[in-house]
Amino acid sequence: GLFVMSAIRDTTERRSTERALQEKNAELLLASQAKDRFLATMSHELRTPLNPIIGFTGILLMKLPGPLTAEQERQLGTIKSSAQHLLSLINDLLDLAKIQSGKVELRRDPVACDEVLEAVDASLRAQAQARGIDFTLRLPSTPTVLDTDRRALHQILLNLVANAIKFTDEGGVTLELRRSGRPEEVTREADMPPPAGRLDFVVSDTGVGIEPDDLARLFGAFAQVGDPRRKTGGTGLGLHLSARLAELLGGRIEVESRPGGGSRFTLVLEPVSWRTS
Ligand code: ADP
Repeated sequence: GLFVMSAIRDTTERRSTERALQEKNAELLLASQAKDRFLATMSHELRTPLNPIIGFTGILLMKLPGPLTAEQERQLGTIKSSAQHLLSLINDLLDLAKIQSGKVELRRDPVACDEVLEAVDASLRAQAQARGIDFTLRLPSTPTVLDTDRRALHQILLNLVANAIKFTDEGGVTLELRRSGRPEEVTREADMPPPAGRLDFVVSDTGVGIEPDDLARLFGAFAQVGDPRRKTGGTGLGLHLSARLAELLGGRIEVESRPGGGSRFTLVLEPVSWRTS
C-alpha cells in the first residue's frame, strides 16, 4: 500500500514538474521572440535617421554650400565616418536578429561561383590597392555551378576578404576556389551515385595573424581580438554572422593562423554536389 501511494505521489509530482517546465519553456520562447522582434524594430528605427546624417555630411564635404576651413573638413569627416560605423553596426545587428529569429530564408538556385568570387574581387580590389597589398583571385579552369544561396555565399566571402585586407599591412591576400570530388554531370553520365564533393573557398593573407588563445573566441558576437590599437572600424560581428550563414548553407568556416605569420580562413561546403555548367 505504502509503495503504491508513493508511486502515485511520484507520478503526480512528476506531472506537475513537467507542466511547470513546459510553462517555463513557453515563457522563455515568448521572451526570446519578443527580444528578436525588439532588436529588429530597433535596428530599423535606428538606421532611418542615419541616412540623412551621412548624406548631408557628404554634401557639406563636397563644398557645394561653400568653402570649408581645414578644421571644418576634418570635423565633418569624423561625423561621416562615425555615422558610417554606426550604420554598419546596425546593419550587422539587423542581420543577426533576422538569423536568430529564423527569418532568413535561404534560396537554392544555380549559382555560378566564379561570378560571386569575381564580384568580391570587384568590390574589394581597390581597398587592397589603397593599402598597398596585392589581391589575387584563383579559379579552377572550368566554371563551378552549385545550388545554393548566392547572397549568403557572397556576404561570407566579402567579410572574410575584407578582414584579410584590414589585417594585412604587407604582402597580399588570395581568394581561391578549390574543388574535390567529381562534377555531377560526370557521375550522371556514368550512372554513378551522386557525388559527395567538397568546395573550399580559401581566403589567405600574409597579415598580423591571430594568437592561438584567441582562435576559439573569434566567432563569438562582438569578438575583437589582437592589438586594440589597431583601429579598423570593425564591429566584431562579421565573423559571427559569417559563421551563422555558413551553417545555414550546410557548411563551416575553418581557420588556421600564426601570430605574425598570416591567416587562412576557409569556407568549407561539404558534402556538396557541384557541376561545371
Ligand atoms: P571586425 O568587424 O572587428 O572585423 P570580425 O568578427 O570580422 O569583426 O572579426 C573579429 C576579430 O577577428 C577582428 O577584430 C580581428 O581581431 C580578428 N580577425 C578577423 N580576421 C582576421 C585576419 N584575417 N587576420 C587577423 N585577425 C583577424
